[in-house]
This record gives sequence, structure tokens and C-alpha cells, in this order.
Amino acid sequence: MPSVFSHAIAAVAIGGVTIGGRSRATLWALGAICAIVPDLDVVSFFFGLPYGHMLGHRGLSHSLFFAAVLAWVVTAIVRRKLPASPSAMRLWVFFFLATASHGFLDSMTNGGLGVAFFAPFSNIRYFLRWRPIVVSPISVYGFVGRRGLIVMWSELGWVWLPAALIFLAGLALRRSTPREAVETNGGRSS
Ligand SMILES: [Zn+2]
Repeated sequence: MPSVFSHAIAAVAIGGVTIGGRSRATLWALGAICAIVPDLDVVSFFFGLPYGHMLGHRGLSHSLFFAAVLAWVVTAIVRRKLPASPSAMRLWVFFFLATASHGFLDSMTNGGLGVAFFAPFSNIRYFLRWRPIVVSPISVYGFVGRRGLIVMWSELGWVWLPAALIFLAGLALRRSTPREAVETNGGRSS
């Protein structure tokens, strides 16, 4: 996996393109959490589940199905708690992409097993053909020393820099489309 920071940064970049309005910072933060959640599956190691198990690391929690369900749950909560938030469809797309981005970034790493994108229907693990990201150690101690520097350097180049460019492009796009203010208020005037 890339580090949790890189997963969060990728989600915020997606938020910069898809989500605006007054509650955007809160929504971006929620998207960042969605992008980190899949790696909670590392608890499977403590329960003795093998890496390649459907519920193991990079299994069900990294699937498109999981991303769709988590996005649905978070969207429902946001619509209830933040009435002035963007439309449910826009929120779902954002939270889905934020969560799914985790698996795609993992599938671009050069270590571990692939990602079970189609779990629970299939446990086949996939990598992308292009895997430039140096895999991050699961343990925090793995970041200490030369290996940690190599991982961070790799993520800066392959995740943080593209994410910053996407985020800035999203902001520029948003400034040129004032109609979004109407949409994010659900069509209501304030
Ligand atoms: Zn992961």
C-alpha cells in the first residue's frame, strides 16, 4: 500500500474536482477517511487470516463493491447531517471514487498481493500493468531509515504531485463554473 497520507491526499484531490460549496472541507475530510478505511483490513493478520483470503489484506475492503456500499452509507449520513451539501448523486460519486482510489493506488505498487477489485464475487487479485509506486511497509517502524525515504520519495512523485495538480485543476475549473453554487445549495437561494 501507499501510506495512509497518500491515500488521503488522493481523496482530497478527487474532492477538489467533484465537491465544492460551503461544507467542502468537511466533505473532503470525510473522503480522506473513506480512502483510509480499506486498510483497516490489516486486523485480519491478527486474526490469523492469510493475506490472500477474501477478508484478508487487499481483499473485500479494497473492492469496488465495498467502495459503493461505503459511499452509500456516508452519503446517507451526510445528507441527513448537512442539508446544504451537494446532491446525493454527486456525494456518492465522490465517496465512491475516494474509496476506490485506494485499491487503484495499491494496484500500482510493486509489492504484496494484488487487489480483489471484484470481491465478494471473485477473489482474483489484480495489479495494474504499470506499478511505479514503491510499496509502503505495514509497520510504522518500516518508515524509519533509508527504506522509509525511498517510499516517501516514490509517493511524492507518483501520488502527491499528480494529486496537487488535479486539486489545483479542480479549483480552477470551479472558479469558472459559478453554477455549482446553485447546485450545492440544492437549488435553494440563501
Ligand atoms: Zn490498501
